[in-house]
Amino acid sequence: MRVLSLVFSFFILFNAIANAQTVIPKKELAIVIDDLGNNMKGTNELLALDVPLTVAIMPFLSTSTQDASHAFENGHEVIVHMPMEPIKGKKSWLGPGAITTDLSDKEIRKRVEDAIKSVPYAVGMNHHMGSKATADERVMRIVLEVCKENGLYYLDSKTTGKTVIPKLAEELGVPLLENKLFFDDVYTLQHILQQAKKLSEEIDRDDQSIAIGHVGVTGTKVVSMLKEFIPLYQQKAELVPLSGLINEYKYIDKSMP
Ligand SMILES: [Zn+2]
Repeated sequence: MRVLSLVFSFFILFNAIANAQTVIPKKELAIVIDDLGNNMKGTNELLALDVPLTVAIMPFLSTSTQDASHAFENGHEVIVHMPMEPIKGKKSWLGPGAITTDLSDKEIRKRVEDAIKSVPYAVGMNHHMGSKATADERVMRIVLEVCKENGLYYLDSKTTGKTVIPKLAEELGVPLLENKLFFDDVYTLQHILQQAKKLSEEIDRDDQSIAIGHVGVTGTKVVSMLKEFIPLYQQKAELVPLSGLINEYKYIDKSMP
């Protein structure tokens, strides 16, 4: 009897230890790369990286579908990189199917729906440029409604301090994420490496971190920085796709195209 109770006590003790371990918050890091879909510099090297990244793909471009499938097959998460009107800059920089504030409600809805269809495997959305459109409540309400109807989360890369996205996402119940750091807001390798170090310090402070880089002008520099820094990040945090930071998304079947 005594042996049995001893065994039982051990069982309780081990259970307590196991439970204690599950409550310890594990640090998580999501790395997002914007601007895929137009055969941009660094795309293939990036998609070949053997860690789960989240790639934001612009709709309706020459390699949108191809990049999305390639990313999915290599274990990365796909989101739609929706082009949206900036305060400054040319409309031609936005690419096809962009959301501008002069469009009707109906046209905005159609463009967002079409964009989602043009990027297979997408489970979320963020915006390309967008400092004007993301401050416009009428426009963003429609964008976020369509995200909700399609089960997509939204990543607000905060290209304006006047973003209405947090308020609307909460009201509509769209899961929202916000990035804290851009790797390549300045194009030099020196700056990109500096930002990479900054992210490492941020991981030490926070339980969840999100950082964004780009393919294109800075593509190959971002890839070589990631190759250097990912082993360091992995010592501190688990590298997860963006959806890994949203509780209700952890159990969703993402294999549907
Ligand atoms: Zn972009």
